[in-house]
Amino acid sequence: MNPRKLSSSLDFFLRRFCAIAILSSVLVLVLSGYAASLIYERYVVRLAESNAVNLASSIINAHRTELDAALIKAPLLPPDIMSLDRTLRAFIQPYGIVKIKMFSPKGIVIYSTDMRIIGTDASQNAELQVALNGGASSLIQHKDQFRDLTHEERFDVDVVESYVAMKNPEGKVIGAFEIYQDMSGFRGEVQQGVALFVGGLALIVLGIITTAFAFMRKAAKRLISQQYQLETLATVDSVTGLYNRAEITRRMEAEWQRFKRGGPDARKFALLMLDLDHFKRINDNYGHLAGDELLRRVAGRLREELRSYSEIGRYGGEEFIVLIPEITNCDAYSVAERLRVRLVEPGFDLGDETVSITTSIGFAIADDSDKDLDALIKRADDCLYEAKGAGRNRVVGAVETAPEL
Ligand code: GH3
Ligand code: MG
Ligand code: MG
Repeated sequence: MNPRKLSSSLDFFLRRFCAIAILSSVLVLVLSGYAASLIYERYVVRLAESNAVNLASSIINAHRTELDAALIKAPLLPPDIMSLDRTLRAFIQPYGIVKIKMFSPKGIVIYSTDMRIIGTDASQNAELQVALNGGASSLIQHKDQFRDLTHEERFDVDVVESYVAMKNPEGKVIGAFEIYQDMSGFRGEVQQGVALFVGGLALIVLGIITTAFAFMRKAAKRLISQQYQLETLATVDSVTGLYNRAEITRRMEAEWQRFKRGGPDARKFALLMLDLDHFKRINDNYGHLAGDELLRRVAGRLREELRSYSEIGRYGGEEFIVLIPEITNCDAYSVAERLRVRLVEPGFDLGDETVSITTSIGFAIADDSDKDLDALIKRADDCLYEAKGAGRNRVVGAVETAPEL
């Protein structure tokens, strides 16, 4: 894949990764925060329930006689009910209980800190039935407003309602208690615990995502740079740094297609074929390495001499092709001649020696009469052959007459 395309698709992939990672992390954090608060809430309910069970058995142990009397005489009337109320309130006062009710085995309210509901039938209440069957059942109620034992209003409170069995020492169920405990004090603790948990988890998730992102970005950069290297290997000639034969052929083909699509008004382009004269002698006289160096220097001069929109490639051993878009016959001749002169003078300084070479150049301008690109290349090549035959160090173009320079 083209490195630029690869780079933009990797960018796209990394952006997608970030978006998905952020979204899923938020989801994970919200869900785990929710799960953690549910766990804490269950803990608070269980704690309250166990308090309620202990409290119920303490009340029974401490006030067995009064409770038995209350159950037998139910419903209690003043002054007995007042006396029971005083006794229970005094007993539960230190335990943070906000309300308490007592039920007969049939589910009738026989005592409540709210006297108005004494005598009501609560037997349909499922939680109460659990307690009357010897068990315990609790649930948390988040209340905006609540009246406590002293009928004082409390706002924004968490109350745990527990239904627990009243059992005699023989283990027989003799009624049930409904105990309301204000657990709001735990809320801050719960929030703090959840915040700590979610915060810790967020740090871990952030660490994982950042590490994964850094790792992927590094891998992506390495991939892109390897792709650039591969592209360079596939398109650039290692000796001269010019396009290799395959790449300059691709570029000529692309220009040819543009020319063909352009119809009669298409801008013409020129192909210049350059061949260094008697290059074999250079190798023979100065060695192959010097020959390589000379090829590099020639490539450098060609690059310096040509505008950026011209394309240069090494077509063969000591042969080069120059593609010049949008050019006329005359201009092509001028450019070719300028290149020829530029490669002759001054000689190339190769350390110990200054080496002079000459170049033969043949050129052709794309024409509608060319069947295909090969036909155009062949015309340029024929001109080069003609230049060689005519004594080398000259330019021959597929034009009627060479203009005066
Ligand atoms: P002509 O004027 O007819 O073109 O003569 P020439 O010697 O340049 O042509 P010929 O085709 O006989 O020889 C080309 C030489 O170019 C032969 C080869 O040693 C040399 N050559 C080709 N590729 C390289 C290369 O990569 N490095 C070096 N140092 N020499 C090369
Ligand atoms: Mg040659
Ligand atoms: Mg040659």
